[in-house]
Amino acid sequence: MKQEAHSWIAIRAIALLADKGGNKNLVRLLGDHACEASVGAWIPDSTDAKSGGSATENHIFKMKPFRGKSPDRFVAEKNVLLKRLGPARAMSAYLADDNKLDPDWWAQAYKADPMKPGQHLPNRAMALSTMLKDLLLLGDESVDSLVGRGRIFDAYTVSDAQTRQEALAAYFFMLSHFIADSCMPCHGDARNLSAYGKGLHKQWEEHWSKAVAAEFAKDALINKGAAPSACIPGDEAMEKARGKDKKFGLDFDETTIPSLPKGRDVWLEMVDVCRASFALASIVAPPAKYGYGDTKARARFDAVLAGKPILKEMDRVIMHDAVLNTAMVWKNVWQALGKKPAKPK
Ligand SMILES: [Zn+2]
Repeated sequence: MKQEAHSWIAIRAIALLADKGGNKNLVRLLGDHACEASVGAWIPDSTDAKSGGSATENHIFKMKPFRGKSPDRFVAEKNVLLKRLGPARAMSAYLADDNKLDPDWWAQAYKADPMKPGQHLPNRAMALSTMLKDLLLLGDESVDSLVGRGRIFDAYTVSDAQTRQEALAAYFFMLSHFIADSCMPCHGDARNLSAYGKGLHKQWEEHWSKAVAAEFAKDALINKGAAPSACIPGDEAMEKARGKDKKFGLDFDETTIPSLPKGRDVWLEMVDVCRASFALASIVAPPAKYGYGDTKARARFDAVLAGKPILKEMDRVIMHDAVLNTAMVWKNVWQALGKKPAKPK
């Protein structure tokens, strides 16, 4: 996804938390820095991050049929996957109704082969969300007051090492990038037709950017080099974000933000979301026509999506879940703070 779409998803996720009873101090932290989403949520795709040797490179999780040993490990039967994804996700409802992918498709093992170890979406989302829980403990006074745990960790840290609100917000927004990317069907599909610049991936992302328009471009939300006070206020940014729902056919009225089920973590959630995204890619470009081994096959945006009803359906499902998953994982990070620290022995 491109910068405008990432900014919109992050700010829409703050608004969803605000509207659906997300922790009010989390909403305050992110809302006060909403305009900075245009920076934080974009860092993983910035040229500087890529050329700087950052592990943010290759944040994809592209699957293809797996024919190695013990394939059972890489099978996600439809009913099992949908149960794990849960009813709140639009991808669940969409895939439940789908009959384009037959039982043979679902019975097949699929595996992602990251280009470099650890450099993939579930890993990046897991790593950042885990680190954020630690950074929240080590906050400065203003962070501690939002977290509401007193100055417990003040004794362990020098003040320059303490996490500030701005830094936290930037990391929350970075995290939203990886979560949103896992909802992009081309990021879960190893076929050449889903690579950037092969006629589908780039064009689809440009279409989303156009939908949220220049209002979510970096300079529209924050003035380069200006003090944070030059940002548009959080409430205004959230209202702007809600205003784009119609463009994607979104209706969050009935949405609830689930907690991560017991025994699950961000890694497992993202692996499943990527599998669902891969299923969407396989609906857009059916493997019977565009084989998984066919490097020459192309499913151009203009041919398979543009102007067709399926584009509207896909946009709604993808954007709903990009926003919901972001709010879900943020909420999970913040909920970790609810646990009372152990009494010193
Ligand atoms: Zn990205």
